[in-house]
Amino acid sequence: MADSHAGSIADVLAIAAHRDDVEQTCGGTLVRMRSIGVRTAILDLTRGEAGTRGSAEERTAEAKAAAEILGVVWRDALDIPDGRVENTWENRLKIVEVLRRIRPRVVILPYGQGRHPDHYNSATLGYEACFLSGLAKIDTGAPPYRPFKIVYASLYADVRPSFVVDITPFIEDRHRALLAYRSQYGNQQQGTGLFVPEEEIRERTFSVARHYGLLAGVRYAEPFVQKEVGLVDDLTLIPVQSM
Ligand SMILES: [Zn+2]
Repeated sequence: MADSHAGSIADVLAIAAHRDDVEQTCGGTLVRMRSIGVRTAILDLTRGEAGTRGSAEERTAEAKAAAEILGVVWRDALDIPDGRVENTWENRLKIVEVLRRIRPRVVILPYGQGRHPDHYNSATLGYEACFLSGLAKIDTGAPPYRPFKIVYASLYADVRPSFVVDITPFIEDRHRALLAYRSQYGNQQQGTGLFVPEEEIRERTFSVARHYGLLAGVRYAEPFVQKEVGLVDDLTLIPVQSM
């Protein structure tokens, strides 16, 4: 693991639009990081008040329960309106304040394309916040800080990943974290038709993880895109068999 930065609260910060986005797209990766001693954190940009099921208060309690299962050291939610995640100066500054407090080496953002505008807007908003966070002239009362690495969790997007993370030993933890959102995923009457029962959630999420696992010769995996090229020291240690 990279050396932790002075005063840093977590090494990896996952930022996403909605509560349970992180669980769905990179929850297994966060558990894996925790298992090797890397400190992880989650910033949800909205509080879920526009959801069909569950109040914002219920979802706060559910997000806390999920965070405990994932083993993150810190989780919070901004007050950006659900369904209106926009790349504004005000929103960028809210994220800058978090980045300068948490000081993560790695930031996980949503991938910049997809069906839901909140998701792709979060990608640009998060990227620009990471950039601004490093500028001393942006005064938030805390020292400037720029993360070393940004990776994009691409599970919601139909795009070929740059790499996948093997979550095989951790997929049950991820599933439990997802089911912590009882108001969304529990078997219940309200909203039937829009939402699928627990068994369907399990089959769907495990199938997607299996798909990405197969790409790399492991059982279950989560996909990521990075904009930079990979750097290799030793050709004999490159993983994933060619044939
Ligand atoms: Zn979402």
